[in-house]
Amino acid sequence: MTIHSLDIQCTQCHSKEHFKTGHDDNEDSIEKAIEQFHGKTQIQVRSIIRKHKIDNAEYGFALFACPQCQILYNPYSVKVEYDNIMLFQPFHKCQRCNTTLVKATDPIKTYACRKCGKKQLHINE
Ligand SMILES: [Zn+2]
Ligand SMILES: [Zn+2]
Repeated sequence: MTIHSLDIQCTQCHSKEHFKTGHDDNEDSIEKAIEQFHGKTQIQVRSIIRKHKIDNAEYGFALFACPQCQILYNPYSVKVEYDNIMLFQPFHKCQRCNTTLVKATDPIKTYACRKCGKKQLHINE
């Protein structure tokens, strides 16, 4: 997996945002990606790796959106399944309204510009 870049521009106010998805080639295991996690998340992931059997781990930059404000975010997210039934998946919060972010899976034009709030974003190819 490599990192994909996404340049998004608002056709209304012309502000640009740069997003990334995926993770670096050298972060091919969760052990190697651990430095990407911050604070409590890193401590928890370390502890899970040490004490439990990891079944599946997904991690990397991903596009999230606030269901309230429709603003896009680009956190380095992680999801670890372990011990057959356990799931570790920290939530990301909107910095404006503190709502829990959800994965952004809709077309980019359905999301709002961080600056002007208009839903006129498009991807610069
Ligand atoms: Zn705008
Ligand atoms: Zn919000």
